Amino acid sequence: EQRDGDQKEFLQAVREVFETIEPVFKDHPQYEAAGVLERLVEPERVVKFRVPWVDDEGHVQVNRGYRVQFNSAIGPYKGGLRFHPTVTEAVIKFLGFEQIFKNSLTGLPMGGGKGGSDFNPKGRSDAEVMRFCQSFMTELQRHIGQFTDVPAGDINVGAREIGFLFGQYKRLRNEFSGVLTGKGLEFGGSLTRTEATGYGLCYYTQEALRVLRNDSFEGKTVVVSGSGNVAIFAIEKATALGAKVVTASDSNGYVYDPNGIDLDVLKDIKLNKRGRISEYAERVDGATYFEGCRGVWSVKCDIALPCATQNEIDGTEAQMLVDNGCTVVCEGSNMPSTPDAIEVYQNNNVLYGPAKAANAGGVAVSGLEMSQNSYRLSWTFDEVDARLKGIMEEIVANSLDAAKKYGDEGDLMQGANIAGFIKVADAMVAQGII
Ligand code: NDP
Repeated sequence: EQRDGDQKEFLQAVREVFETIEPVFKDHPQYEAAGVLERLVEPERVVKFRVPWVDDEGHVQVNRGYRVQFNSAIGPYKGGLRFHPTVTEAVIKFLGFEQIFKNSLTGLPMGGGKGGSDFNPKGRSDAEVMRFCQSFMTELQRHIGQFTDVPAGDINVGAREIGFLFGQYKRLRNEFSGVLTGKGLEFGGSLTRTEATGYGLCYYTQEALRVLRNDSFEGKTVVVSGSGNVAIFAIEKATALGAKVVTASDSNGYVYDPNGIDLDVLKDIKLNKRGRISEYAERVDGATYFEGCRGVWSVKCDIALPCATQNEIDGTEAQMLVDNGCTVVCEGSNMPSTPDAIEVYQNNNVLYGPAKAANAGGVAVSGLEMSQNSYRLSWTFDEVDARLKGIMEEIVANSLDAAKKYGDEGDLMQGANIAGFIKVADAMVAQGII
């Protein structure tokens, strides 16, 4: 805290993990002797760089680029790139720190990292986005590689951006390798990667409901926030599993559709036209648009799936969810619930699936993309989807085992933190003080 006092998102993420893993230290004195916690909170490397580019009017623009290579104990650094004006070193560090445990939970050999820029792609032309991506990669390429650090997408970094980034990497390094995941299917991408985080979130929620409540999505009313990659495919899978999803949102507002979100319309607005969620209410009878994205938590539901951004549910909003009958919150976005919100879930017996477990499906399929690139082959959609489902179910099982062994039985948050931590800590001890 002395060193990083102003990095509030990072400290929030660290506190949540440290508060829950304490019981592990009694059985594992070697962790303390090897300074595991002190080393864990210090990234192995932080790269911060200038990203200059020229806009369509011929003006020079300068953004900040980041790559935090947090922990490589169990594999090459792995984690997404975020392009958003709210990106700071503290945000990238919190995301990178969370990523260490998430990647460990998938069971695949991936370390933790994260990166991005304060570049805002909203309103920018394809040519501007391309020039920005090329400039960003011109610096980033010296720090990454298929065996070192393998970035992927995150907020505002989708297929278009990954394509531009991959093209520039290939050109500069004269090398065609699996250095990025989320690539186009024509050049090494994996089927199911686009759907993976949203689908994985629903597989996780369905399994947790089955094991802990003998229940399922069938017949449930679901509130989803966001309307990006994670939200769209969470809505698709929750609907396929028999639920009715009644909301979607963006940073300006949310739509309420009592008949269940029409996915064809939503996909057309967001994926084809890069439009705003307000357009949904103009196109669908019975749907209403409300200004202000946070109002989405006032909508009555059984299950809430936050899929937009960090700290999007505070204590008051969590209480509103509970008062309206919500009994399940599983997180698609990273750290969407403030510590106060988590306390409300815990005090009201809400089935709470924390982000690092519930949204691990995206990085899990990224790991499978790396495997396919190494083998130089492509698995079918159903093959990858089945592996994704298996991984999400295993994450629920491993979290519950860890919670039972070391902490509070049934506590998915504590279980995820402990299960993710132990593997990384053991590797850090075995590799010496580095
Ligand atoms: P997208 O860029 O596809 O979508 C983000 C959505 O969230 C948009 O609807 C966006 O609205 C909204 N949003 C972004 N910032 C804010 C904000 N400050 N306030 C309110 N709404 C906001 O990103 P993804 O769907 O990929 O990512 C969503 C979340 O899921 C993030 O937390 C990300 O870290 C996490 N995640 C993503 C994974 C992936 O595979 N993509 C994997 C694991 C986690 P608007 O258009 O108005 O900005």
